[in-house]
Amino acid sequence: MTSLLSADEVRFLARHGYSEEDVYDGRYQSKEGRAAAAKEAGKHLVLAGVIGRANCRRMGHRLRTRAGHCIQCKPTNIAFQRREDTPGYVYIAGSLSGRIIKIGTTGDLNLRENQMRAEGYGGSKDWIVLFSVYVSKGGEFERAASSRVKGNRVYRTYFKDGIEQGAVELHLCSFGEALRAMTEHLSDEERKRLTVFRSKHTGRYEFEYE
Ligand SMILES: [Zn+2]
Repeated sequence: MTSLLSADEVRFLARHGYSEEDVYDGRYQSKEGRAAAAKEAGKHLVLAGVIGRANCRRMGHRLRTRAGHCIQCKPTNIAFQRREDTPGYVYIAGSLSGRIIKIGTTGDLNLRENQMRAEGYGGSKDWIVLFSVYVSKGGEFERAASSRVKGNRVYRTYFKDGIEQGAVELHLCSFGEALRAMTEHLSDEERKRLTVFRSKHTGRYEFEYE
């Protein structure tokens, strides 16, 4: 098989746990066209013609995430793409002390709940996971659901091991609103895998905002 990719590109992919199989050849398509086609084909990454910005173009970087971000300049973009495509539990968690709602993705709900409490995630230590659904593309689902939530978002930094953590996105909304945003586009298959936890108590998380 003749390779589309250079030896350097193949080595780069291997270092990050990917192979040529994961790359969609989108060299002759528009950015939007190849993003849609790659998704359809179930490929995490795309091969673009070389029309990147300054440094990228000079270096001849062609490997991108589906969203078009160079993974050779910034390998952390790979982790982002992987998170987008990984199966997992998308959850709604609530904090009574902060009167806030968090939508997130995890492979292990108990662990995540304990972590959020121990870290004082977003400035709260009383997080409770109120709802979850198991989906095939965790990150992507989370992002879509989160963007459908009506109400304001807040970004809060917090300290973990004495180090200020990046801002986390939280919703100023009721549990019911987050639930609506999360469940309105579920497939029948996904509906079978949803769980509302501690349903007796979810009424306490119906925060009201102007
Ligand atoms: Zn680059």
